[in-house]
Amino acid sequence: MYLQLEDIDTVTVDFTAHCNAMCGNCSRNLGGAEVNPRMPLEHMSPTTFKKLFSEKVLDNINQIVFNGSYGDPLISPYMFECLDYLKEHKKPVIHIHTNGGMRQPKFFSELALKLKDFPFPSHVVFSIDGLEDTNHLYRRNVRWNKVMDNAQAFLDAGGLGRWRMLVFEHNAHQLEQAEQLSAKMGFAKFEINGGHTFTAMNSMVNNAIEKFKANKKEQARTIKYDTSKLDNIKRLKDLKKTHGSLDKGFAKSCITCKWQKKRKIQVSHMGEVFPCCYMLSDRYPRDVDSPFAKENSKVEWLNVNDMPLEVILDSPFFTDELPDSWGSEDRFKICEVTCGEV
Ligand code: SF4
Ligand code: SF4
Repeated sequence: MYLQLEDIDTVTVDFTAHCNAMCGNCSRNLGGAEVNPRMPLEHMSPTTFKKLFSEKVLDNINQIVFNGSYGDPLISPYMFECLDYLKEHKKPVIHIHTNGGMRQPKFFSELALKLKDFPFPSHVVFSIDGLEDTNHLYRRNVRWNKVMDNAQAFLDAGGLGRWRMLVFEHNAHQLEQAEQLSAKMGFAKFEINGGHTFTAMNSMVNNAIEKFKANKKEQARTIKYDTSKLDNIKRLKDLKKTHGSLDKGFAKSCITCKWQKKRKIQVSHMGEVFPCCYMLSDRYPRDVDSPFAKENSKVEWLNVNDMPLEVILDSPFFTDELPDSWGSEDRFKICEVTCGEV
């Protein structure tokens, strides 16, 4: 059994396939230039949202995370309608991830007020990758002044905000400045993320993260930060050492499902239910010939428009096929690569 309804803590929702941005590594783009033609260019409808979050589901879960694999949730015209629907039931904690570059400050003030009705720590994560001269290099088409005006309106209206920065070679030198600006604006938290998952990361970025965390260490008196202990890097090194090559290592390692452990599931903007965001990312692949896409296309993904979530979780894929696959030779390659342990 993957997870029963009673076990679920968090439902992550891909609320739309639309976005004002064209980030280079996003599944919605081909090469950061052309919208992925395999993805249905639609918003999640309020009907789908209400079918997904039935009273029974809302009674069981604790959090809803609006975080896009294919789009930015705040571009959907249905966000306020869906938040208002949730208010009529048992209210979950809400997290919304955005690039912050769409709409007007008034919308963001209103959003802050709406989120006040939800339990703490309901908040918005603004993905801002640097400063005026760098944010748009990865967050392509996002205008800096708009992000700043919108975020400030949200914070001034009492919204709880988190600034999340992906670190690249081109913005690594701005970490300290960005953190200072976030504090000045009134963000509750500043965090760095993602560098480890991007092939663009190089030693310069590494050094900047090191330096930043080292300064944090002095301020916060946390334990010593050591890259050799970083999960991803250590895991890859050990896999290669033990099995001779990464491919052989992935194939032999045990799988600990990250999302099952965190009691999370993922739902697409069309209403299909996935165990995690990694599987959703291969649902409308950029490269149909990749082994991940081929495996993904063999699964019949069930949809909350056709049956309740609890019935989907009780279907053979979730009760047996996926959990049983982890110990067999037929397991998904994405599970090996993402959640394989040495
Ligand atoms: S803001 Fe999010 S959804 Fe939009 S292109 Fe960037 S990563 Fe993709
Ligand atoms: S990739 Fe596989 S093992 Fe990892 S979180 Fe997703 S379903 Fe679980």
